[in-house]
Amino acid sequence: MEKESIESLGEFGLIDRIKSTAVLYDSNNTKLGIGDDAAVIDNGKTYTLVSTDMLLEGVHFDLTYTPLKHLGYKAVAINVSDIAAMNGTPKQITVSIAISNRFDLAAVDEFYEGVNLACEAYHIDLVGGDTSSSRAGLVISVTAIGEVEKDKIVYRSGAGENDIVCVTGDLGAAYLGLQVLEREKQEFLGNPNMQPKIDDKTYVVGRQLKPEGRTDIIHDLNEIGVVPTSMIDISDGLASEILHLSKHSGVGFTVFFENFPIENITLETCTEFNLNPIASIISGGEDYELLMTFKQADFEKIKAIPEITPIGFVTKEKENWLVLNSGEKTKIVAQGWK
Ligand code: ADP
Ligand code: MG
Repeated sequence: MEKESIESLGEFGLIDRIKSTAVLYDSNNTKLGIGDDAAVIDNGKTYTLVSTDMLLEGVHFDLTYTPLKHLGYKAVAINVSDIAAMNGTPKQITVSIAISNRFDLAAVDEFYEGVNLACEAYHIDLVGGDTSSSRAGLVISVTAIGEVEKDKIVYRSGAGENDIVCVTGDLGAAYLGLQVLEREKQEFLGNPNMQPKIDDKTYVVGRQLKPEGRTDIIHDLNEIGVVPTSMIDISDGLASEILHLSKHSGVGFTVFFENFPIENITLETCTEFNLNPIASIISGGEDYELLMTFKQADFEKIKAIPEITPIGFVTKEKENWLVLNSGEKTKIVAQGWK
């Protein structure tokens, strides 16, 4: 019999398969298991949120251009981002590392300097982890634990017809930052004496190396008393996240490219690298901004948060469309990880 390949399933197919056989005994307390940005556990008074992400050297990061301090910060920030995506507040993290013998004590210290900086920035406690040796480069696994009031929780599944689709911050910069870093790496390998030419690219490079989880937006939303109807963080690219919200909510999304918040430097870098700006913005990952939907009735209120930009609306038809500046429509199709 021919072996089934993981590749044919893809990341999300594989997760669905694991989910279909997952054992759930405690359905009283396990409010939501696999399938959202974080698991949701009923602790009586509030919901506890749990999210895990793993980062592998050579897959998720390249130590030739990633300072370990930034890596430590980023490993925490991307988990904080998943807690924020449930409208929650991060409280604790555990950090596990597997290190190869290439690492010395100073390297480990530098990594934890970044972890601790992030803990300070997000007001969270480092409460545990695990340490191992590795024969295949550095492996990092972070678990974040958060909390949300029961009536404030936001899932991927709550988007409704006519809701307004919004994003926070700006899009695409982290992906372009990665292109800049990759180019510098290639040039450095060709000529180790060269000086890096990233002075005018500090914004996009910074977005790649030092992303932030948008707990500030969660705080602001709480202040104005608005709860999104659905939410997800943008880790794999806008297209992929739109498809997740669409699938989980059973609705469609129509978004307008002309409304997308994009920094000039991001577009300029697209031109410089001969990259299609539309493809780069919609598929480029790692911005760790939030994609969310709001009831029309809340539209006036969310104007008080300048970092939230409306980009489209939700339709009953389960099709997802990107409207280009020309007015032409293109269907949003699966991208994501392979
Ligand atoms: P995110 O991009 O928000 O980190 P993922 O796409 O990694 O989310 O995961 C989606 C969902 O699948 C989450 O609920 C996550 O906990 C779950 N998941 C991913 N991999 C596994 C696994 N190996 N076993 C169980 N659950 C998993
Ligand atoms: Mg997520």
